[in-house]
Amino acid sequence: VTPARDSHVDVLIVGAGPAGSFLAFALGRAGVRVRIIDKKEVRISAGHADGIQPRTIEVFQSYGLAERFLKDAAQVHVKAYYVSGPEGGIVRTILEPIVQGSRYPFEATLAQSGIEGLLRDAMTEDGVHVEQPKVPISLSLSADEAEPQTHSSEAYPVKVVLERPSASAPAKNGHNGPMSDAVKTASPAMGSANDTAQEVVRARYVVGADGAHSWVRSAVGIDMVGESTNFVWGVVDFVPESDFLDLRLSCAIHTKHGNCMIVPREKDMIRVYVHLEDVNVGDSGRLDGPQLGPDDILEVAQECFYPYKLSAPQGFDWWTVYIVGQRVASSFSVKNRVFIIGDACHTHSPKAGQGMNASMSDAHNLAWKLAYVIRQWAPSTLLDTYEFERRKFAQDLIDFDKIFATLYSVTPKPGDKNHERFLEASNTYGAFIRGHGVQYEASTITDIARKSVASGLVIGQRIPPGIIVQVADFRPYELHDLLPSDTRFKILILPGDTSKPKQKAKLDAVAAEIDHPEGFLKRFTPAGAPDDAVFDIITISHTSCAAANTLAIPPCLQSHWSKTFIDTETMCERIGGSLYASYGVSDAGAIIVCRPDGYVGMVAALDDSAAIGKYFAHFLHSTCVVDA
Ligand code: FAD
Repeated sequence: VTPARDSHVDVLIVGAGPAGSFLAFALGRAGVRVRIIDKKEVRISAGHADGIQPRTIEVFQSYGLAERFLKDAAQVHVKAYYVSGPEGGIVRTILEPIVQGSRYPFEATLAQSGIEGLLRDAMTEDGVHVEQPKVPISLSLSADEAEPQTHSSEAYPVKVVLERPSASAPAKNGHNGPMSDAVKTASPAMGSANDTAQEVVRARYVVGADGAHSWVRSAVGIDMVGESTNFVWGVVDFVPESDFLDLRLSCAIHTKHGNCMIVPREKDMIRVYVHLEDVNVGDSGRLDGPQLGPDDILEVAQECFYPYKLSAPQGFDWWTVYIVGQRVASSFSVKNRVFIIGDACHTHSPKAGQGMNASMSDAHNLAWKLAYVIRQWAPSTLLDTYEFERRKFAQDLIDFDKIFATLYSVTPKPGDKNHERFLEASNTYGAFIRGHGVQYEASTITDIARKSVASGLVIGQRIPPGIIVQVADFRPYELHDLLPSDTRFKILILPGDTSKPKQKAKLDAVAAEIDHPEGFLKRFTPAGAPDDAVFDIITISHTSCAAANTLAIPPCLQSHWSKTFIDTETMCERIGGSLYASYGVSDAGAIIVCRPDGYVGMVAALDDSAAIGKYFAHFLHSTCVVDA
């Protein structure tokens, strides 16, 4: 018998859907040794999720992925609402922008295969490749090493046996039979040990990104809490033939014949969702009755569309029928050694286009924290904040989805105000749906004290975008472009008007404190690492172009040339100049700490860099001991 191969890795990711692929890419970019496996023979090439929210586009941009994504994706700028009109057909009630006040004021749509392809291409640049088909067949956590008090990033406490599944079916393109959510049809593809070579992987961390039927979740005994609904929806992707003019808008159609949703897609395709009213969910939680196909789904859509015509002369790209289920995992981690992300820890309806976005956001949240602990820059308790932040988000998402999916799935009756309630919910939850409104609660990494210093910011939300001007050449920059997802904390120093001696003196004082051996820069930058390994310092003065002086910025605050900005209107385009006002920062100034994932971690007064030192002392290892 050939002994199983044995190897070590920092992070083993199971599942290469959006969540796992994003995490593998982000960890590879951060220099973490990572492996990613998937049970499928080949990756999907059509269907599944397609809607990418504005915040996710910002996150793509922070990793340098937005340009390629936007080149391939369709953009949806406007949404339209329809109801049954007095003449029997449908009439438009509202036409409105998808999103306002965002850097990317639109939703973008691209088949999930396109997103996975983008991430796979990007991860190969850091030498990471999806190994497929490959499945885990056992997982065990060494009791000693997993105990929090002995948590050592040197240890490899998770042992996983992998093998090639013996009879994995090739991934189907296009057609997808009736499917339901979560565990109902769970059956991870398992090969037999006899005909496939096994491999033992010893990992510091294992992440289950293996979808709603997660094998990893079952292996570590985490339950899903929640329920399945009786709402059954059909989805079909095709290039339409139609006399309905709003097909390239996002449409919600509520009629007495049923409910339907249109999502414009890349390559002239559309996706149509229809509520399948006459389909029953049996006691087992599976669909009862005859199998439905794409023609049945289209037929329901055609009834909703009356008097407009809708057909699919070129056939169907992909279709599915699904039951809406709303569940959250009881825990997102076991001893901070095994984590679950994405659909493995939350499932809900796809109506608001959230699942793929939420799954990649889980990965974005976890990636920098794992990198810090693996580099031994932070204690393992930093990893507690993954579940703290993302489980609360998932519960909020399910609460929202219960309202939204119900309003979407109930056929309106005369005078029942369902349509009005649907519009109200869309507006109330707009910022949450688009991702900007996601807010992390106060914790060691989200310090809400002193928030009045920047009253326009919400600590725990992503930092809002804004145009600023580089002093050296008066070139305008979008602030977000200066905050790449490179695992560093961004320290934004807003010193007020540095052409005034008082503010200049304050800036010199804060620079001296930061540069002091006991200042946070030196305390939390590992010995021997470059000064900017952990912290990227950007100074933004509230000064006109004429009064700006790059040499006014003390040299210890990193580069005069590329890190010194002013908040003023640009000379040519006449844009910008409102950052201080929108962040609610007075001319007394402020310091803003932006976390590596782009969320505001804390704010402090300009002369209170000690508060920043205390903030980092809660979750980073310091290189010297200072009284907190
Ligand atoms: P998955 O996409 O399920 O990926 C899991 C991966 O793990 C797969 O590649 C699988 O092969 C692999 N795997 C599973 N088990 C194993 C194992 N034992 N070993 C190895 N590998 C394994 N979300 C949106 O954000 N926007 C939308 O517009 C949207 N539309 C949707 C429309 C429909 C019809 C549906 C059904 C869902 C939609 N969603 C949408 C939700 C979205 O598809 C999911 O939330 C998203 O795919 C979850 O990503 P994931 O990586 O967590 O899981």
